[in-house]
Amino acid sequence: MKLSARAMNLTPSEPRKIYEEARKYSDVIDLTLGDPDLMPPENIRLAACRSTMEGLTRYSANAGLLELREKIAEESTREYGMTFDPEANVIVTAGAMEAAYLSLWSLLDPGDEVIITAPFWINYKEVVQSFGAVPFFVETREADGFVVSPEEIEKKITDKTKLLVLNSPSNPTGAVIPEDVLARIAEIAIRHDITVISDEIYSHLVYDGKKCSSILSCPGMRERTIVINGFSKRFAMTGYRVGWALAPKEVVTVMTQMTENIVACAPLPSQYAAIEALSSAGTENYIRDEFEKRRNCVLEELAGIEEISCTGIPGTFYAFLNVAKSGMSGKEFALSLLERKHVALIYGSAYGGDAYKDYVRIAFTMECDTLREAFRRIREFLAENKQK
Ligand code: PMP
Repeated sequence: MKLSARAMNLTPSEPRKIYEEARKYSDVIDLTLGDPDLMPPENIRLAACRSTMEGLTRYSANAGLLELREKIAEESTREYGMTFDPEANVIVTAGAMEAAYLSLWSLLDPGDEVIITAPFWINYKEVVQSFGAVPFFVETREADGFVVSPEEIEKKITDKTKLLVLNSPSNPTGAVIPEDVLARIAEIAIRHDITVISDEIYSHLVYDGKKCSSILSCPGMRERTIVINGFSKRFAMTGYRVGWALAPKEVVTVMTQMTENIVACAPLPSQYAAIEALSSAGTENYIRDEFEKRRNCVLEELAGIEEISCTGIPGTFYAFLNVAKSGMSGKEFALSLLERKHVALIYGSAYGGDAYKDYVRIAFTMECDTLREAFRRIREFLAENKQK
């Protein structure tokens, strides 16, 4: 069958390749995918069961159950200090992934330029390209804690720039953009009339008692910001596939028409589970606490490995590690570690090319004991490597 040029242009996912390779080893410790191993609170799981047993299993409105949109609007009012109309400003999607896809689809024409901060979550680059738009990357650096420089964003702006994609806390670095930096980015976006997609899927996984800020709260940003969020990470509900976008009315209207052509609506039992999740918000805090414990365990282990540096992990369940001192590139490190010690992680260049060739990403989505065993194997690997 003759495939479309668009389909042929898709880049095979490097993280998925490593993940598949890791399946060859029965004793592998897999630190590749950002899929929490924890269960959502029981009341959420029961809500999905109840919906199924009671036959609440048909389609909903394309934009999602109004009751769920109302919960999201209430929650967002608390988060951002402004009111949202559940019918005009909220769309429920099949995961944040669909919210991101629909946002890009609703905004981009071929030839439009999109600025993406790097290293980045790979989907943004792929989807932007699939719409015939052109991604430009603003690289962030370890020395700056991987926080983006507003001035460097401004340097990439041309008269074709339509959109800026921010992801704070960041996959893959865990970096959180401080409020004053967001304010400077907002000022630039307004001056150049640029729309911002703010992917906040990790906004509740921020540690040390801190909170993360959103560009949506900056003056003048409401009419030019689309916020992407979802239930996957905060509530450990990846498989339920529910997310949402908050956006101006005209964007929500077209996104709703688009989703009718793709999935019709997010799965109904999952939408009922999501209503329960927001109705009992707070009961899921053990998830963040557990990731904070694991984050501390990762930092403790790293402190004893001189070949690896890390800027700290303020949020998410990822660590982006510099392995240059091992004498290997991130790719050599990842491939050789998997083959010799059966620890799977992803090389940094997968998230932004050569600028990140010295890095690897780990997802600490498993218990501390397993993480400690992974680091024991990594230390052994590095020691053997030194002796070569
Ligand atoms: N945005 C980012 C930055 C992500 O890392 C992910 C998932 N890895 C998503 C969106 C998609 O999440 P969901 O499971 O809600 O589709």
